[in-house]
Amino acid sequence: MREYKIVVLGSGGVGKSAITVQFVQGIFVEKYDPTIEDSYRKEQFTAMRDLYMKNGQGFVLVYSITAQSTFNDLVDLREQILRVKDTDSVPMVLVGNKCDLEDERVVGKDQGQNFARTYGMHTFVESSAKAKVNINEIFFDLVRQINRR
Ligand code: GDP
Ligand code: MG
Repeated sequence: MREYKIVVLGSGGVGKSAITVQFVQGIFVEKYDPTIEDSYRKEQFTAMRDLYMKNGQGFVLVYSITAQSTFNDLVDLREQILRVKDTDSVPMVLVGNKCDLEDERVVGKDQGQNFARTYGMHTFVESSAKAKVNINEIFFDLVRQINRR
């Protein structure tokens, strides 16, 4: 079986771990250990992040539809990926997570769509790791993008 190196990125608390565990194990974890990067000192973390970005074949950029700042953070994150990969295009999926929390929504679906269009990102979905919405789609689409290259 082919292996794919997929990197899931986004601000703390957006649901990166929950999405990944839901995809791999089919369960929703309410409280996963804070991602290892969170406990690293900044310098070490930057070096580590560069390394896994460089090795990544496909990227999942995640924000939470309930936190505007997590959406705003993605512009820099995308730039960083392209800089580290030294390319102007790489397989990527934009994900607005926590779509089960419609009552707490502050980032509109149109904002996600505009972001994807503006930056030439192939795919945008809203997902819920909790309600298991669009989780498989994220990874299947990314693999399809990788295979097409
Ligand atoms: P990470 O820091 O990006 O890895 O975020 P986590 O996966 O640890 O999730 C942060 C918090 O958001 C946890 O309390 C999760 O249970 C919760 N969470 C993650 N995904 C969802 C989702 O789709 N819906 C809801 N309601 N909560 C979520
Ligand atoms: Mg995490």
